[in-house]
Amino acid sequence: MAFDKTALNTWFHQFPLLKKIVSLEPVVWLNPNHLSKSEMDSLPVTRDDIDEAAALWDRFAPYIALAFPETRETNGIVESPLRLIATMKNELNSRYVAQIDGELFLKCDNELPIAGSIKARGGVYEVLYYAEQLALEAGLIQQDEDYSVFCHEKFTSFFKQFTIGVGSTGNLGLSIGIIAAKLGFNVSVYMSSDAKQWKKDLLRAKGAAVIEFAGDFGEAIFAGREQTKLNPKGYFVDDENSRHLFLGYSVAALRLEEQLALEKVKVDRDHPLFVYLPCGVGGSPGGIAFGLRQVFGDHVHCFFVEPTHSPAVLIGLLTGEKEKVCVQDFCIDNITEGDGLAVGRSSSFASSISEKTISGMYTLEDDELFKLLALLADSEGIQVEPSAASGLLGPLNMISTDYLNEHQLKEKNATHIVWATGGSLVPREDMDLFYEKGIELLNKNL
Ligand SMILES: *Cc1c(COP(=O)(O)O)cnc(C)c1O
Repeated sequence: MAFDKTALNTWFHQFPLLKKIVSLEPVVWLNPNHLSKSEMDSLPVTRDDIDEAAALWDRFAPYIALAFPETRETNGIVESPLRLIATMKNELNSRYVAQIDGELFLKCDNELPIAGSIKARGGVYEVLYYAEQLALEAGLIQQDEDYSVFCHEKFTSFFKQFTIGVGSTGNLGLSIGIIAAKLGFNVSVYMSSDAKQWKKDLLRAKGAAVIEFAGDFGEAIFAGREQTKLNPKGYFVDDENSRHLFLGYSVAALRLEEQLALEKVKVDRDHPLFVYLPCGVGGSPGGIAFGLRQVFGDHVHCFFVEPTHSPAVLIGLLTGEKEKVCVQDFCIDNITEGDGLAVGRSSSFASSISEKTISGMYTLEDDELFKLLALLADSEGIQVEPSAASGLLGPLNMISTDYLNEHQLKEKNATHIVWATGGSLVPREDMDLFYEKGIELLNKNL
């Protein structure tokens, strides 16, 4: 245990919500440190950083279109659809006896090309960034040239001398492994024992080395970081502290701005936007929330979601200790079926920013993940993995707080976006099991 009893007792006294969190009760937390848009200049990232990240994606689009034919239709732009889920909204209203005001959309990152999850944003971006840096330094390319040459043997054999390492519960490993191997890098994915077999098999099939660890995610990251650093040509993608991952994710905000405009959805004083983001280390929701706050200012309200057994970011933000505390310090077991959410400690880079940008967080039980994914499958015919369903309770949880009153948002024309973070690479049999489990739980509760 990293903290003595006195520190723990002080926190329990100072933050009554902590007792519920430690007892694994689902909770809703509103962030008292939320900054207004005008105060966001103090953050270590800016709107310019997002625009630069977007420009890098654009430079690589011709390469992506060639290397990943599924992106040809979008000309190599890695993006997911935004879908109205009105039937699901009705389903939620009747099941939970609630009244969600405004429209409900699903941001379908479960359909993202290359990696089938939200990691196709951050993970792919960080590897592209590194590849570009190496190629620029070696004089192989200039930024105004056509990047489809990254497919050429000259590039892939150049990248062979470099090794990329990553520690992952699964989806990050998939995205890094797939893009790095495609570019020609040696890539080693350090996985925790709870990672699914199909993910390991898929990675090996794509040409990545998979190294397994008996412990949890934290240990896989630690070992991966140490071993990669021993190699002078090694580069470690560090989920616990990465500016690049964060910026890769943030570009989603610019894309969403365009999609909302196409849907004729307004975001302003009278049309608040609520966004619910599943949270592991906090990198993907942090990057996206930061981007959204840059784009929509004080009219967007972002909420993170964690499983009751893995409230790493919640405990970090509530106590203000961020990455200095982990759930195990509070005797929470960090065991959840939500792949990508089984994280005991938050990303230091991301949490220092999310501390200022987000409106709040909530936790939910694993059973709820399965029920929600089954409801979504039945009502909309959309299949997502358990983690990705967690945001669907967002509108209901938010209504249950004083948030709307405190911010004078009652009676406004709200739009809710639930970020569905993964699913399309999950094998059929696994997805069927998730669904059946959800149906069973739903029937039990009738
Ligand atoms: C990684 C992941 C998340 C959370 O992202 P973090 O950057 O770890 O917070 C959520 N859902 C899925 C499916 C993921 O793979």
